[in-house]
Amino acid sequence: MRSVMVDGSGRVSVEQRPDPELPGPDGAIVEVTATAICGSDLHFLEGHYPVTEPVALGHEAIGVVVETGPAVESFSAGDRVLVS
Ligand SMILES: [Zn+2]
Repeated sequence: MRSVMVDGSGRVSVEQRPDPELPGPDGAIVEVTATAICGSDLHFLEGHYPVTEPVALGHEAIGVVVETGPAVESFSAGDRVLVS
């Protein structure tokens, strides 16, 4: 997948990153269809939060659930969701 990344120098780039994997039985994978940049992202961009490796920007998003872990009961593949 492609991702907008920022590194410790404040440089922003679009990079090819590994496809996500379920983080655990109560997690989900969401295909992001739109996202926004918030104040937390700006802290990374402006160096207020030091980063030792590149960080993906745009953690507030809307998208479609692709896969859920076995403990997830509220959502299923195909649901449109908001991620904050
Ligand atoms: Zn945020």
